[in-house]
Amino acid sequence: MKIADKNTSAVSLVEKSLKRIEETKEYNIFTFIDNARALEKAKKIDEKIKRGEPVGRLAGVPFALKSNFLSKDRPANASAKILTDFPSPLNSTCAELLENEDAICVGCVNLDAFAHGSSTENSFFGPTLNSKDKSRVAGGSSGGSAVAVALDCVEFATGTDTGGSIRQPASFNGVYGIKPTYGATSRYGVVAMASSLDVIGFFAKTPSDLDLLMEICAKRDEKDLTSLPDFYAESPETFPKKKIGIIKDFMESEKLDPEIKSALEEKVASLKKKGFEIIELEMPTLKYALAAYYIIQPAEVASNLSRYDGIRYAFRSKNSKDLDSLFKNTRGEGFMPENKRRIMIGNFVLSSGFYDAYFLKAAKARTLIIREFNAAFEKVDCILSPTSPNPAFKLGEKVSDPVSMYLEDVMSVPVNLAGLPALAFPLGKSKSGLDLGAQLIGPRRSDKQLINLVKELN
Ligand code: GLN
Repeated sequence: MKIADKNTSAVSLVEKSLKRIEETKEYNIFTFIDNARALEKAKKIDEKIKRGEPVGRLAGVPFALKSNFLSKDRPANASAKILTDFPSPLNSTCAELLENEDAICVGCVNLDAFAHGSSTENSFFGPTLNSKDKSRVAGGSSGGSAVAVALDCVEFATGTDTGGSIRQPASFNGVYGIKPTYGATSRYGVVAMASSLDVIGFFAKTPSDLDLLMEICAKRDEKDLTSLPDFYAESPETFPKKKIGIIKDFMESEKLDPEIKSALEEKVASLKKKGFEIIELEMPTLKYALAAYYIIQPAEVASNLSRYDGIRYAFRSKNSKDLDSLFKNTRGEGFMPENKRRIMIGNFVLSSGFYDAYFLKAAKARTLIIREFNAAFEKVDCILSPTSPNPAFKLGEKVSDPVSMYLEDVMSVPVNLAGLPALAFPLGKSKSGLDLGAQLIGPRRSDKQLINLVKELN
């Protein structure tokens, strides 16, 4: 990461970033560009440097916030109509920690509305395009963040990962993306999707950059009671066993793209050469992860989205005669079809007649998945897995078929159900020039070891 110092000015870093944002407009990455504020902050940092005053660890580094992060006076619209024109009243802890280190937010980037999706096509602002092929999706939900980094608009971007939203777009665009251990980073001031699964993380061009971002942001936060006591800085640097697992069912899946498969096999061969032992894992419970996720997650979504009523936030339908029609019309007009689908599924699986059959069963499956991972980590340090079954797919290919879109997440959601850290990294390119990616999954609190291992893999 290029930091402003005596040789590089913050203003020039920000100008370069703003120019690049302009050049890549057709990709539809940014929902808001903060030129004036970014340049003003850059000038202040340069003056400090000139005066020889100390500056932060991210001095002058341009970055983008996923548009579901609150950051004072910037629009936190979560790419949803119902939240448009909602200037943030406060700062998310993550944005604050980054800005305190003198990083410069140049703007906010696109996502699937409320982070519901795997392609960024569910956005009120339209889809973001893939960085290597404009006829394909960026991945999602953090598509804007991944493409902003891949196309050099910014040095890093924030993301949220509830079921793969950092890792899958990172892999679709050839960048690194970390989904930290659940609770490692504060969720305060980030628009909630599904609270027991949501994690705040980052996209960057190198694992070392992710390491620095984690050092800065992986902190206990009194404002988020699910945040963990600090552990990142004191974590061991490396894993003890030099044993890496691969999940047999994933590697042998018919759905796995042959180019991803062979790139992974090459990676496995090179790991063996480096002295790692590769162990095949039988993890039969993982096949229930997708079903469990698409019960638990909509249930939490239904609850979190109930607050958007046309009274407290932003958008309000103009066509309402009374309170009931105000709620109905605001929610009817303000939510995207995918948001509505999840609200309906969520309320259904929580309803008295169906709670035991769906929600409770999914919660039990989640416990079994956690146990299966725990057992695996008795044998191996961490697990190497595809991030998703395929590289970036065509725009429009899955968006009208929700189940095929959900199947995108089959290899990423188990991680969220178990609260584990996982790091997506580039695996090279397909013959047609698309990015391929994989993820390393570790036990809780092994975020630092994962980052260091990925440095070693390259
Ligand atoms: N694609 C998954 C979903 O739509 C994950 C989204 C996310 O991680 N925010 O639920």
